Amino acid sequence: MIRLSVVLPVYNEVENLPRLLEALATTLQGTQTPYEIICVDDGSQDGSTELLRHLAQTRCDLRAVLLRRNYGQTAAMAAGFHAARGEVIVTLDSDLQNDPQDIPRLLDKLAQGYDLVSGWRRERQDATVTRLIPSRIANWLIGWVTGVRLHDYGCSLKAYRAELVADLNLYGELHRFLPALAYIEGAKIAEVEVLHHPRLFGRSKYGLDRTFRVLMDLLTIAFMKTFLTRPMHVFGFFGLGAIGAGLGLGIYLTCLKLFLHQSIGSRPLLFLAVMLLLGGVQLFGFGLLAELQMRTYHESQGRPIYRVREVLGAGLPEVGKG
Ligand code: UDP
Ligand code: MG
Repeated sequence: MIRLSVVLPVYNEVENLPRLLEALATTLQGTQTPYEIICVDDGSQDGSTELLRHLAQTRCDLRAVLLRRNYGQTAAMAAGFHAARGEVIVTLDSDLQNDPQDIPRLLDKLAQGYDLVSGWRRERQDATVTRLIPSRIANWLIGWVTGVRLHDYGCSLKAYRAELVADLNLYGELHRFLPALAYIEGAKIAEVEVLHHPRLFGRSKYGLDRTFRVLMDLLTIAFMKTFLTRPMHVFGFFGLGAIGAGLGLGIYLTCLKLFLHQSIGSRPLLFLAVMLLLGGVQLFGFGLLAELQMRTYHESQGRPIYRVREVLGAGLPEVGKG
């Protein structure tokens, strides 16, 4: 019985991997919990793939999931979640910036009855202008939009209950919003301060453009949070409101024309009435469509966002192939 699965997305981290696995094994063996480490190779080109291939054959605590190409961190994490068999899943970066020593404290917190425990890199070791400031703003915005108040959304070191992860569908680069998505699913979320180290080997895979991607993803999340279950409540409300106002104005103008014989053809009010009617009908129709769309969204789940080439190690069935 495996209780703990540690999921590591790996993209060109050949120098970090051996050190990281060493540190992980030391910490995890100390916890006396049956564990597995799942390395998801996200199409590395620097030899990480070959290293993992080798390690998966020699270590009994390691499974390697090799993706066919570079799909991005979110897909790599999703593949890891899919392969994980533990009751608890811990994720961290494979670049040694997160410290495995923090895992037991996350697990303790999780055991207090939380579904998700997120790390908070209080003393973060990244460049100030390009990383820390955008991240400050992003954290504040995300907290404000989603209603989940965390200090540090970007920290990869997190612990989850497996059944929570099973409910989450990841797309695009939404791994940063896992706490927000979990919150939409009704999870109890806590935060724990963790260590953070500068990157010693390899390079960061992200640049400044990440800020904009995060903003776009945030819009998606805000939209999902509002509309996921009842789009008609929002669109229908505004649609009917606009239709009502348009009709009222139209009736008023018709009365002016019929009973007071005024000319209404050039009145701005007439245009407003027409616009409101048309806009209202469209909003209403859009709400209905969104409602159908959301049904499809909810009912057609179970499609992975990645394709696994092969799964190595521990003689287990292949995961998500096809
Ligand atoms: N990563 C990945 N696929 C990618 C980009 C990154 O699996 O396309 C992994 C990477 O190997 C690392 C983690 O995601 O383990 C975080 O990446 P990185 O350290 O570059 O991000 P940063 O710490 O700079 O935010
Ligand atoms: Mg990093």
